[in-house]
Amino acid sequence: MDKKTHEELEKIAEEIRQCTKCPLHKGRTNAVPGEGGFEKGILFIGEAPGRNEDLQGRPFVGRAGQLLNELLDSIGLTRDDVFITNIVKCRPPNNRDPAPEEVKACSPYLERQIQVLKPRIIVTLGRHAWKWVCEHFGVPYEGISKAHGRVFTTNTLFYGKITVMPMYHPAAAIYNKELLPVLREDFQRLKQFLEDLKNI
Ligand code: URA
Ligand code: SF4
Repeated sequence: MDKKTHEELEKIAEEIRQCTKCPLHKGRTNAVPGEGGFEKGILFIGEAPGRNEDLQGRPFVGRAGQLLNELLDSIGLTRDDVFITNIVKCRPPNNRDPAPEEVKACSPYLERQIQVLKPRIIVTLGRHAWKWVCEHFGVPYEGISKAHGRVFTTNTLFYGKITVMPMYHPAAAIYNKELLPVLREDFQRLKQFLEDLKNI
C-alpha cells in the first residue's frame, strides 16, 4: 500500500491501542487493530479477537486463523495480500459476543479503516460482521445460510460503492465440519470474483 495509506492506518491503530471508550479495554492484553497488505483491495472483517489474538495483538492467529491461512492459500493468496481486522478491537471476556454498546463504541475505527482502504471487496467472516456491514451500508440483510458466497453491492453517499461477500466464520467450520466444504467453495467464488475484476 502507499505511504499515506499506511500512515493513516497506523494513526488509527495507535488510537485503538490507547482506546478506553468501552469496558473491553479493561481486560485486554493487547488491542488488535488489524494488519496485512492491500495490493488486491481485499478487506476481511471478523468478529472480535480471541485469546491468542489478545496475547499477540494480531488478528486471526489461533486455530481459526490457521484455517483462514489455508483457505487463502487455496486461492493463491497470502496474509500479505489481504487486510484483516475485526468489528471490535479488544477481546470480550471468555470470547462472549461483543455487546451492542461495545460494537457501537468501536465502530468508528472500522468505519475509518474502510474509508482509508476503500476496499474493492469486503469479505465478512461470520454472522456478526455480515450484520454490521448490512446495517452500516444499507444492504438488505438475509441470513448467512442464504447469503454466503454471494456478491452484494450498494452505492453509498459517504463511502462510494461497497461490494461485500459474506462467508461463514472459519471457527464455525471447525466446530461444524459440514461447513468446511461450503467455506472452501465460497473462497473459490472469491477467486472467481477477483479474476473477473481483472477482465473489466
Ligand atoms: N475470530 C475472529 O473473529 N477474529 C479474530 O481475530 C480471531 C478469531
Ligand atoms: Fe476501544 Fe474498541 Fe477496545 Fe472498546 S473494543 S476499548 S471501543 S478499541
